[in-house]
Amino acid sequence: MSKRDYYDILGVAKGASAEEIKKAYRKLAIKYHPDKNPDDKSAEEKFKEAAEAYEVLSTPEKKQRYDQFGHAGVGGAAGGGYGGGGMNMEDIFSQFGDIFGGGGSPFDSFFGGGQSRSGGRRVVKGSNLRIKVKLTLEEIANGAEKKIKVNKQITCKTCDGTGAKDKSSVSTCSTCGGSGAVRRVTNTILGQMQTTATCPTCHGSGQQITAKCNACHGEGTVRGEETITINIPAGVSDGMQLSMAGKGNAAPNGGIAGDLIILIEELPHHTLKREGNNIVYDLHLSIVDAALGASIEVPTIDGKAKIKIDPGTQSGKLLRLKGKGIPEINSYHKGDQIIHVNIWTPKVLNADERAILEKLRESPNFKPQPGKNEKSFFDKMKEYFE
Ligand SMILES: [Zn+2]
Ligand SMILES: [Zn+2]
Repeated sequence: MSKRDYYDILGVAKGASAEEIKKAYRKLAIKYHPDKNPDDKSAEEKFKEAAEAYEVLSTPEKKQRYDQFGHAGVGGAAGGGYGGGGMNMEDIFSQFGDIFGGGGSPFDSFFGGGQSRSGGRRVVKGSNLRIKVKLTLEEIANGAEKKIKVNKQITCKTCDGTGAKDKSSVSTCSTCGGSGAVRRVTNTILGQMQTTATCPTCHGSGQQITAKCNACHGEGTVRGEETITINIPAGVSDGMQLSMAGKGNAAPNGGIAGDLIILIEELPHHTLKREGNNIVYDLHLSIVDAALGASIEVPTIDGKAKIKIDPGTQSGKLLRLKGKGIPEINSYHKGDQIIHVNIWTPKVLNADERAILEKLRESPNFKPQPGKNEKSFFDKMKEYFE
């Protein structure tokens, strides 16, 4: 996979100044920020790509190597090295201290919640929460709204998540001066690199608390219960994971809450079986109904349905109820219900029944005579499942 030119990524000319490069990156970082583009993989890729380009072009030594040797000069071609291996989100966010430091951060509006933050402050994220949701086949077919009581970290109401006893017990962090970040210089193969790390004293909040809130002991969060309404789309399947942003554990010091990860578990149905998006039903038909034909009621995912059994129906025949299966997730397409015909042979006979059957035994019509148009089980399976 060939990499795009870093100057092209940022949309600047080769001779662009440091200020122009910074400005271009700032614009892209805002545009493609994951909080602004939730669940958008291509935006995330662009976000990472821009961060990587900026990381190289904003570091004089790396920029020089890149200008001279291209991606190979910064380890890009081999995929190794800091500049080329792609940056993780942690790296990217810590870089923001430089980009948006000083003055109001444009991220306030995304991370917001009405609180004003000093520029470059690191946003602490709450941990993700995982829950399991059990669904019946009917719920899977129709989609379901589930109200679930979740035990989790919630924002402390006493201190409104600040962790402080009152307003006067909050002061600006003396280690970072309120920025929430400290600068570190590390020596790497590519030369000295300056990174911004979360302030160890205030953990990024930019504030120090002199007296802690009694209710949460300064954490800003407490253990609590929340009833969450989860809308599960039709067509989910066992083992699938859905995620709800911001419904996980609350973050300390007013950061953004983690995500709620919902693991889908499918409950078995007593008569219907799911096979992909199709529903399979085993029908047991009496010899008489199979020979004479009949109108039979079968269960489906949405109530009963009448089906016609042709005279002379053979065991193993597959019938199809079109569109009576599971909808494909996020699509209009629906699976079918497939009815597998089994002929039920009586296990107990009285004298009269026995006499009738003894008579029929000699009838030529009762001798099996499979013809060319009698499909094999394999043919039938192929017809319906391929
Ligand atoms: Zn509190
Ligand atoms: Zn600090």
